[in-house]
Amino acid sequence: MPKPDLILLAMEQSPTLDLFERALHAAGYDLAIAKSLSALENTLQETVPTLLVIAEKLGDKSGLDQARLVLGRFPTLPVILYAVNHDPKLVLECLRSGLSDCIFPPLKIDEIGRAIQQSQKRAAQMGDWVRREVRRTTSSLEERIHEMETLVTLSRSITASLNLDSVLSNVVTAAVELTNAEEGQLLLLDESTDELYMRASRNFDEKFARTFRLPVKDTLAGQVMSTGEAISFCRDAPNKIKTAYLVYSLIYVPLHNNGRVIGVLGVDNRLAKLPFAPHHELVMRVLADFAAIAIQNAQLYDESEHERAKFETVINDIQDGVILLDKSNHILLINPAARKTFGLGISELIGMPVLEAISHHDFTGLLGSITDSPLKFHEIAFEDGRVFNSQYIPIKAIGSVITLEDITHLKMLDRLKSDFIHTISHDLRSPLTAIMGYVELLDRVGPLNDQQKEFVRHVQSSAQNITALINDLLDLGRIEAGFDTRKDEVFIETILRFTLDNLGRQITDKHQNLQLTISPDLPVLRGNPIRLRQMMDNLLVNAIKYTPVKGRIDVILRSEAEQIIFEVADTGIGIPQADQLHIFEKFYRAENAPKDTPGTGLGLAIVKSIVENHAGRIWVESTLGVGSKFVVVLPAS
Ligand code: ADP
Repeated sequence: MPKPDLILLAMEQSPTLDLFERALHAAGYDLAIAKSLSALENTLQETVPTLLVIAEKLGDKSGLDQARLVLGRFPTLPVILYAVNHDPKLVLECLRSGLSDCIFPPLKIDEIGRAIQQSQKRAAQMGDWVRREVRRTTSSLEERIHEMETLVTLSRSITASLNLDSVLSNVVTAAVELTNAEEGQLLLLDESTDELYMRASRNFDEKFARTFRLPVKDTLAGQVMSTGEAISFCRDAPNKIKTAYLVYSLIYVPLHNNGRVIGVLGVDNRLAKLPFAPHHELVMRVLADFAAIAIQNAQLYDESEHERAKFETVINDIQDGVILLDKSNHILLINPAARKTFGLGISELIGMPVLEAISHHDFTGLLGSITDSPLKFHEIAFEDGRVFNSQYIPIKAIGSVITLEDITHLKMLDRLKSDFIHTISHDLRSPLTAIMGYVELLDRVGPLNDQQKEFVRHVQSSAQNITALINDLLDLGRIEAGFDTRKDEVFIETILRFTLDNLGRQITDKHQNLQLTISPDLPVLRGNPIRLRQMMDNLLVNAIKYTPVKGRIDVILRSEAEQIIFEVADTGIGIPQADQLHIFEKFYRAENAPKDTPGTGLGLAIVKSIVENHAGRIWVESTLGVGSKFVVVLPAS
């Protein structure tokens, strides 16, 4: 059995209250009675009645004001005001305030029942209307949510999928479904014929869609193409919008790509005279943007694929080995030439730590050296005689690339050249010694005039230069050939101080400022003291020679991780970047070496050979016009 309706009576104790009680009991209602304002408030906190009857006065408060407050909280609650006098102004106030009725004495029992029933009926009607409205708004909200969900799913599929066909077909399907259209199509411009063709479609005959061609000129789609503006309409009579068929209603929106219109997204109704809703155009615009982004993505992907394929062909075909590494030295790419160099076959190497894939001693040395120095070149020699020049190039945001150039034949030529120079030097030394001896004897066999003495000095100085050159060549030959096997315990600081003592005069003559820093507790070195002195001497002579008067020369001798580090930095003329690669080669002089500064280009070649003979490394850091720094790292004994 349904519960009887609860009527709340808000009035003070009076015969009228008794009358209401009787009338409402007789009509079968449940009753709640509030005889004061606080009682009314308490009752409303506990329960919501189906109707409220309130007296014009409750204590000293206005019943109408109270009724307004209650309606503010429960807008659909029917409220009847009981007034003592029939006052038309009060009735008007009641109606304006949203009360259902206003009743006056004399009251009869059946009148009370009728007023209550009528108010309840109106309230029920109002409730129905509110429910209907809520349902209508909810369903339209649900539709919007569905639209949003479809759009979000589509936008995700655009970024996730590289399959343009399926993305565009999804866009057209969404357009048809979200606008409740009969059919939809995505037209793209064929620039060669100035026609539109159907790139994707929904509910069109497949063959029709495939062969469909629409001229841009004099068509609605063409108008969208040229103005970049959307078109939508709904007509009573079908319109001929395409050469092939008639439609009642339609929406066409442009596809923009890089400021150009590249096509049209359209939906239409051919059979039913159904209009599109105003917001459908907005939905279509969003979908058109999705399609345009997908097309742009596909174009960019095609372009990058094309570039990648080109790059891959080049990398695969070049003679030099190329290994691309990420920042933690894992292989990203290794070309066939590099595989062949290290005999790696076709095994899977991508993603592997490079030192795990390639364990060659010299290669490990190259990677080990890059962490503590900007050394960029390294030779990798194989037991079968092959020699490769490897270059390490850091690449921002990726890692690094290592290239490997086969220099076996150059090495062989270099050896031949060295042998030849060695032989010639030997052959030249004996006649030179004879020349020097006879020149020295000249003034003993008879007096020389001043001019003859001057000529003899010239001959002596030139012969000394040639002797120095030949000595250098012979030294180099000896060091390179590995004849220089002497290894003693060497105190490198003593050697440096000795060298500097000898060069002190030259430094003072040029008013240069020498700064010497020697760390205490340098480890002992095993090496050839004569050669080590030659190495320091050559580097310091260069610093003095290529640094102008009053320049500064910093010499540092320190140790780090069982290594001795010797640095000579100057504020001299610097070395051009391109020359830095070659200055350690024999007879090489940098392009900016002053013509009037004597030199053979052999000094650094000797230095490099000595350093390598002591299992060390040498490199240069230099900025043209600012200065140069030569760094030698030698392992302690
Ligand atoms: P050289 O006898 O010409 O000095 P080196 O082999 O000692 O021959 O040096 C090779 C070249 O390197 C020099 O000719 C010069 O161009 C350059 N070079 C060497 N040291 C320095 C330096 N400290 N400052 C500028 N250039 C230098």
